[in-house]
Amino acid sequence: MAAPPSVPLLEYPRWLRTSPHPGAEAPTGELTEEWYAAMRALFHTDEDRQLLEGLITRRVTVTMYDSIQFTDLIYRNGGWTSHGWHAGGCASSRSIEIARNKSVARDARTLVHEELHTWQSPYLNTRDAELAAYVEEEAWAIAHELPEVDDLRKTNEHGELEPDAEKIRAMIDRDYPGMLAPPSEGGVPERIISVSPDRTTVTIRTEDGREYTRAPQEGDVVPRDRRLLTPPHGHVVDLRRLL
Ligand SMILES: [Zn+2]
Repeated sequence: MAAPPSVPLLEYPRWLRTSPHPGAEAPTGELTEEWYAAMRALFHTDEDRQLLEGLITRRVTVTMYDSIQFTDLIYRNGGWTSHGWHAGGCASSRSIEIARNKSVARDARTLVHEELHTWQSPYLNTRDAELAAYVEEEAWAIAHELPEVDDLRKTNEHGELEPDAEKIRAMIDRDYPGMLAPPSEGGVPERIISVSPDRTTVTIRTEDGREYTRAPQEGDVVPRDRRLLTPPHGHVVDLRRLL
């Protein structure tokens, strides 16, 4: 069996991409008992407890940072230039990294979102992986009576709030790096996954599993797993203190 695709799960929520350096206002230092208490108060249902116990059982390390910055490449005016983003979080099967927010509620939302990424298949394409994670996060936030962060909700025919999958899809196509051919424009969705060492061609993967290369075009963004974590080692969350 071939190795899973090496596309990292990167996070670029719009509210962070468009805001100034969040680290300047985010809390710093060790995680306080107040922070743990506020998180405990939010993770109060049986499902929440199962989520936390699952992370503990699977030995997933959750680390909080003041900021997480990614450095991608963007093709502009006929050349590649560095493209920095502040991310809300990121995840692999064994770790979750979260950029601390001004509110514990947002930290909690990010944890719910990233937890889903820890057990998603690495073969899942970015659109579907993110759609599932944002639907999960928004449904969790609604159930816990947390305010809307982004405009990703709607009222259904029963007058109840629910995640708006169409708005979420549009946001992902607009805001995530390397996205090309959004489904709304027809064709098979595709994304840029890498650039050649000499940077003369980009490799594109289509949702139906094909890959091809072409010359870079204006606006192409190449996602790269180059992270600047602040502070470098972060603050590891003692998940047992959230139970
Ligand atoms: Zn995500």
